[in-house]
Amino acid sequence: MIPVMRPWFGPEEQAAVGEVIASGWVAQGPRVAEFERAYAASVQAGHGVAASSCTTALHLALVLAGVGPGDEVVVPSLSFIATANVVRYAGATPVFADIDPATGNLTAKTIDAARTARTRAVIIVHQGGVPADVDDIRAAHDDVALIEDAACAAGSTYRDRPVGAGANIAAWSFHPRKLLTTGEGGMITTDDPEWAARARRLREHGMSVSAADRHASGSTAPEEYTEVGYNYRMTDLQAAVGLVQLRRLPELIARRRALAARYQELLAGIPGLTTAGDTEYGTTNYQSFWIALPADFPMSRNELLTFLAERGVSARRGIMAAHLEPAYAGVPAAELPHTEWLTGNSLILPLFHAMTEAEQDQVAAAVLAAAGA
Ligand SMILES: *Cc1c(COP(=O)(O)O)cnc(C)c1O
Repeated sequence: MIPVMRPWFGPEEQAAVGEVIASGWVAQGPRVAEFERAYAASVQAGHGVAASSCTTALHLALVLAGVGPGDEVVVPSLSFIATANVVRYAGATPVFADIDPATGNLTAKTIDAARTARTRAVIIVHQGGVPADVDDIRAAHDDVALIEDAACAAGSTYRDRPVGAGANIAAWSFHPRKLLTTGEGGMITTDDPEWAARARRLREHGMSVSAADRHASGSTAPEEYTEVGYNYRMTDLQAAVGLVQLRRLPELIARRRALAARYQELLAGIPGLTTAGDTEYGTTNYQSFWIALPADFPMSRNELLTFLAERGVSARRGIMAAHLEPAYAGVPAAELPHTEWLTGNSLILPLFHAMTEAEQDQVAAAVLAAAGA
């Protein structure tokens, strides 16, 4: 089977992990601090705070923004379920907004339709790596906290800068389904030094001084627990891998963009087929190469998934819609016609760094056969 995604590692990652093990300090320590600085610099943010995942990073972002019980947070339904779940972790209510079907992202206008007097924040997702138009959203919604779920968007660009540059706060994922992976892992980036300092305490049980800093300084002064925190730490084992992967990122993106362009050429003969792509204001890292089927496509999306599997191609349904899941039955939502169309008619095709042109030809041939083209 041709997999939908496969991480790309070399001997450098193995060597980096070996060095951490040899050092004897494997939990959050100097490698995490180094990875935070390097990652924040790569997205032109003032501060990086590593976390155990993007999910936990998003939860911290909501806490920093003061979101709590009684508040509503506007989120796209069209996203991985974690985007909605974190609102529940904070004790608040998610309100689902629709998306622009060309990008899969919230717009200033779709957010409007979901806002009420209780809206405290919006989570803007850069879905599948395609940047959302954040300037437009900021201009219309600067009276609420804007949190960017950039889980998929490492290396995507917005108006000639990296996605995340200029964000109030952005959260990133290093899960193996994303471009840059540490096994599991996440990060907050922000320009606000107070938010960064509080996030560092909150991710480590609310401790006033981190264990790593106490160790480095040799201090014997007892730490204080200033508020209830969490264990959302990343380990130095993960950060060591992240530092190597971050150096690989330009090469990973170049390869994905070349393969995506090749898919677009190979599939150009299918009338009405839409595919993920760049927008007029930014570029995608093609973390997901999704295609959406036209109404007259000879088979349904689910039939096409089976057809592809029978031909050795492991595709996936397109991005899920949280409001259709039992966990979110009855949750408030705006009208979601574009969300329902895109989630029901799209699928994600295999795309990974080591994919060969022959493998890609096999995938494209199968899709073309299904289309009768
Ligand atoms: C993957 C993903 C997440 C969750 O990331 P984890 O690091 O696995 O917690 C959140 N939001 C979006 C949009 C994602 O794609």
